Amino acid sequence: MRARLGDDIDDYCVKCKRIMNHSVVSLMGDEPAKVRCRTCHQDHDYRHEQPPPPKVDPRKAALFNEVLKTVAGAQPADGEAPAEADEKPKAKKKARA
Ligand SMILES: [Zn+2]
Repeated sequence: MRARLGDDIDDYCVKCKRIMNHSVVSLMGDEPAKVRCRTCHQDHDYRHEQPPPPKVDPRKAALFNEVLKTVAGAQPADGEAPAEADEKPKAKKKARA
């Protein structure tokens, strides 16, 4: 069926987060190119009623955790900097004793 400007069409609305009634506002050949949600009046590309992919990509989340581990491991070991500061109090103790 040929789509025409102003036609009613079902599509996924990212704002309403569900399939909503839309109006065709732009055409690419016989296919709707842009549609407007009749509920929130948001214009967007025609999605063929497909919701967008979820924002959290499990592979990216795993990569992010790997990076976190690397950053944690790159930090100086505990006690490396305070070791120098410890020498002075020890010397004082020896002098007092
Ligand atoms: Zn909407």
